[in-house]
Amino acid sequence: MDAFESERAPLPRNMIENSMFEEEPDVVDLAKESTSYPIDSDDVVYEPRSSRLLVRGLGENDLDEDEEDYESSARLLGMSFMNRSSNQRSAASSYTRHQPSGLCSMPSAKTTVVGVLLLVVVVSIIMVIYFVPGCTFTRTGCQKANSTMERIYPISTSDELFPWTELRLPSSVHPVHYDISLHPDLKNMTFKGSVSIKVKVLHETKIIVLHSSDMNITKATFQDEVVHVLEYKPWQQIAIKFPEDLKKGLYVLNINYTANFSNSYDGFYNSSYVDINGTKRVLAATQFEPLAARKAFPCFDEPAFKSTFRIKITRESKYISLSNMPKVKTTDFKNGLQEDEFKESDTMSTYLVAFIVAEFSSYSRNVSDTTVSVYAIPDKKEQVHYALDSAEKLLKFYNNFFEIDYPLSKLDLVAIPDFLAGAMENWGLITFRETTLLVGNNSSPLDKQLVTSVIAHELAHQWFGNLVTMRWWNDLWLNEGFATYMQYMSIKYVFPDLDIGTEFLNVRFKALAKDALNSSHPVSTVVSTPEQVEEMFDSVSYEKGASILLMLNATLTNGEFRKGVIEYLLKYNRSNTESEDLWNSLSQVSKQNLSVSEMMNTWTVHKGFPLVTVKRNGTQVTLSQEHFLLNAENSTDYSSLWHVPLTYVNDSCSVLSSCKQVFHLKDKTAILKLPGEVKWLKFNLRNDGFYIVHYDMEGWKALIDALNGDINVLPYEDRAALINNIFALSRLGRVSFRQVLNLMDYIRNENETAPLTEALFQLDQIYRLLDKRSELNLVSRMTSYIDSHFGSLMESQSWELETSVSKITLRSALLEMACSLNRLNCTTQAKQLFDQWVHSNKTSPIPSDLMRTVFKVAAQTDDGWDVLLNTYKHSIYDSEKHKTLEGLASTQDVRKILWIMKKSLDGSEIQTQDFPLVIHTICRNFAGYLYAWDFVKENWEKITQKFPLGSFPIQSIIMSTTSQFSTKAHLMEAQNFFSSLGAKGSQMRIVQEATETIKQNMRWMENNLSTLRYWL
Ligand SMILES: [Zn+2]
Repeated sequence: MDAFESERAPLPRNMIENSMFEEEPDVVDLAKESTSYPIDSDDVVYEPRSSRLLVRGLGENDLDEDEEDYESSARLLGMSFMNRSSNQRSAASSYTRHQPSGLCSMPSAKTTVVGVLLLVVVVSIIMVIYFVPGCTFTRTGCQKANSTMERIYPISTSDELFPWTELRLPSSVHPVHYDISLHPDLKNMTFKGSVSIKVKVLHETKIIVLHSSDMNITKATFQDEVVHVLEYKPWQQIAIKFPEDLKKGLYVLNINYTANFSNSYDGFYNSSYVDINGTKRVLAATQFEPLAARKAFPCFDEPAFKSTFRIKITRESKYISLSNMPKVKTTDFKNGLQEDEFKESDTMSTYLVAFIVAEFSSYSRNVSDTTVSVYAIPDKKEQVHYALDSAEKLLKFYNNFFEIDYPLSKLDLVAIPDFLAGAMENWGLITFRETTLLVGNNSSPLDKQLVTSVIAHELAHQWFGNLVTMRWWNDLWLNEGFATYMQYMSIKYVFPDLDIGTEFLNVRFKALAKDALNSSHPVSTVVSTPEQVEEMFDSVSYEKGASILLMLNATLTNGEFRKGVIEYLLKYNRSNTESEDLWNSLSQVSKQNLSVSEMMNTWTVHKGFPLVTVKRNGTQVTLSQEHFLLNAENSTDYSSLWHVPLTYVNDSCSVLSSCKQVFHLKDKTAILKLPGEVKWLKFNLRNDGFYIVHYDMEGWKALIDALNGDINVLPYEDRAALINNIFALSRLGRVSFRQVLNLMDYIRNENETAPLTEALFQLDQIYRLLDKRSELNLVSRMTSYIDSHFGSLMESQSWELETSVSKITLRSALLEMACSLNRLNCTTQAKQLFDQWVHSNKTSPIPSDLMRTVFKVAAQTDDGWDVLLNTYKHSIYDSEKHKTLEGLASTQDVRKILWIMKKSLDGSEIQTQDFPLVIHTICRNFAGYLYAWDFVKENWEKITQKFPLGSFPIQSIIMSTTSQFSTKAHLMEAQNFFSSLGAKGSQMRIVQEATETIKQNMRWMENNLSTLRYWL
């Protein structure tokens, strides 16, 4: 089995920004769908993965390593495209070659040559040259220096040579300032734009290359002279060639263009909703991270090309417009239109630019010289107050914590009715899903926890990401890991009632689960293609990133972590960084004899994490580390060693933080001498470290005995971690399932939320796998097991309003499990609550945290389902809508399952933003999961038009549909489907993860079915 997959589903964990994709989503502020990057066969003429020669050009010794990494390295190193072997010539048909003079007797095809006729001649000559003996373009041919470094220029849309051969832009020209004027037409769904870019030429060059996607350029001038613009669509680049070198200095490039609104969720896109009176309203908003600013205006769309921006927007008078900066003036035009002009921005990356044209209402407040406003559609205006209060408190916290005040004079938080990501940290104009910003009267404390978390995350980005930005997407974790860590840290201080500690603990367990697979990747990893950039928005960047920062903070003392962070922000204010820069700042302030850089690099450059094994003999403890890898088959990374700041306590002192002792394990094995005899040792105190610990038989037994004696010998985080670790070890084959059950026996005495929900989560994973295999006997025995260990707790839960987040978290998990197992008491109570709610015309409230459980029960009857559908369509409370949808998607009626999938994909009656959630919910149940799999296969083309390849929604859809397969037949079916995708997704990392997960499930079943039959 693989309990180690994305959905920690039955537990109402709180979530972060992109919470909407699943119940317990992984990640945060994803960018949105993109119909761009049409990597279809025509465009992939030089498809990197097909070219071994490209790899060889870098050095024979590199061949044993991952091909993809080399391709990326080549790009990052600025390598030109090189020749490929003859069997790839046909694939290169849309390229011609530029031959450095004097090489191989090849006639030179000057890059300035234009026109189809000449092109044909050049291609013909090349074809001839290819077959000249001794002068092929392979490694063995043309032995002269650099002969393997041929440039292969792509052909632009006008059939001329496109003068640039890399995905990354040249560094010779930098933008300094953009003046952008936009006129969106919300009736015809088009917009007109003009951009004036002041550029600085740093090195003499004959070309300027920048990004542009899906726009029609009507006029371009350079220094007021009309210039010809070349476009290479597959890379979304445009270029201008000059006959002479441009000297160093400042120049101005003007481009006028028109474009359609993006019909996906990225770029400048239109969104609509139906207001309370049934009138359809439209609005336009942006989502640029990571690669979609280029869809709204031509730009140098890489995070290191920071610049200032001045934006003007023309609109009808019924709309307002918003952008990153405050508005400085509005001009009335004779035609009744108005133009808003915004103040010039701070220096920032293109992906942080944003603008909105909509009919929104807001409330504002002044917070430490910043005007903070929360915007929503007028019908939901009164749901913004909680967000405004939270934003105020968090902004004050961050201003104080970072010792650098938020630098802009305004901060807008805007709820967008149709928005794919959870939220997006655009500087000064943060956009959210409605569910992650609005809080209605009937929202539960868990809904508030979600809203607070997302606001805390996005506000942290205003420093980490906006003020200081990663140089390139390979270090995305510097943005996301840090914002994720700060969100938990700030909430712990500012909102202690929200019990965020338990949530963060779950997040770390989830990160461990993902990172235990061979398909994982290092925190900081090479990326170059658009799909690879999209794939970085995953659990590793966000959750593992946050986890290793926690570990570091727990290792440093005396506030050194904060001091180092402040140092880093001051030093790199308004510029770009790499991981090493952060480590160096932290090393400088550390008084310990500890190289932060040396320690942390072991956590960012290797994928995975260590399994630490503890063997005790009297006072001598032998410690060893190895890579915790669930599926060692095909592993490429056996030899990693981590610098583990190993913490431990023993029976004589275990609960107070002063009991903590630290041992730095850097080698494969080490000996720890204890000062005296102990009964037991527990390592990784409070699970602050990112590793799993295994004890010898006596070690486990002593811990289990201690817990059976008194659960309070260890803090609740440690108890939850023991449960998490022993299930993981059983997956790895290090402990038998019998040992797992031995530990689980203590759970009858457990009363804390974190260990109980972790235990339920783990058991639920196994239950669902067994259910999907129709192991009916074992399913029923698992039900009895859960009943005997959790039954009395389930019965004792109240169905009344409850305010403690911890109690709510626990009861939602328990009752959702109870009702899904059809416990009579649970389903009866749920039906009763639902009936009261319906008969009172929804005035007799269902506690919001119980809505999902109640709705899932109610959705099983036709009448109940109809009521829920009606509620979904008309509710103005988004958390209620969200739970209603989960109810609808949990129906066992196949016709309804098919209907809801279809409607959510086409966006007609269910919002497309919720399609991943619909699939996830359907796949939890036996009735629909195979239908969902078929639906995804049949509609792959359409799905990838809505959501970009590699993006989080795609990751979620693939894992939801395949992660519960555990048979050879399903493995083969999944593999066949994935390989049939070709350029439409077969190379995605999530495909490897899915395949590996199925294999892991198969192996677990093989090894444990008999044990389960015997012991359960
Ligand atoms: Zn983020």
